[in-house]
Amino acid sequence: MLATVLVLASMISQPQVILKADDLKTTERWQRYFSYLESRAVVSTAGVIGNQLQTMSQASLDYLRNLPMVEFWNHGWDHGVATKDGEFIDPPPDDAETKADTAEFWNTPPEQQMEHMRLCHEVVQTYLGVTRHGFGAPENKHDCNTVPAFLACGYDHWYFPKYSILGCRPEGVRTLARGGGEIEDSPGVPSLARMLCPGHDGHPEGRL
Ligand SMILES: [Zn+2]
Repeated sequence: MLATVLVLASMISQPQVILKADDLKTTERWQRYFSYLESRAVVSTAGVIGNQLQTMSQASLDYLRNLPMVEFWNHGWDHGVATKDGEFIDPPPDDAETKADTAEFWNTPPEQQMEHMRLCHEVVQTYLGVTRHGFGAPENKHDCNTVPAFLACGYDHWYFPKYSILGCRPEGVRTLARGGGEIEDSPGVPSLARMLCPGHDGHPEGRL
């Protein structure tokens, strides 16, 4: 699970914190996370990988459907990253010799991106019974082909977009820009130092 904390202090004196977690799966780690949120009445977002929902038990789906403090968002269909052989796998290959510069929403055809966006959108509706309004790309990697796929689902907020840099910014979309900082040294390894000073790693895209 990747977790990020965004501290938004733009127009107000009291900082607001948005928890962004993604790669929702049926794991003990996620269970602990949700249990903690419930125990402290904390609200979080959670990025859903569409094909993961299909693997979950009915009990797990029922549990997720009854989490009032979680905002689910579209995190793609398969979270795949391509190998140089053209195979999309998750988790991604971690060596440069195997990993290609292609991911689910990065350097892939518009038709494929449209399909993956739609598939995740539909299974979230079917399995969790909710209509989502937001999207964030796996590995935060997307290109301009992602924009029409995003808009086709009727979404209005985007986690960590790069469309301003790419030159394809859609109108009227609320953005959560990366910049609050990671709160883990690596996935599943929380860092108290990062938590206490969430902006210290200063992402170049800046704050919202
Ligand atoms: Zn992810």
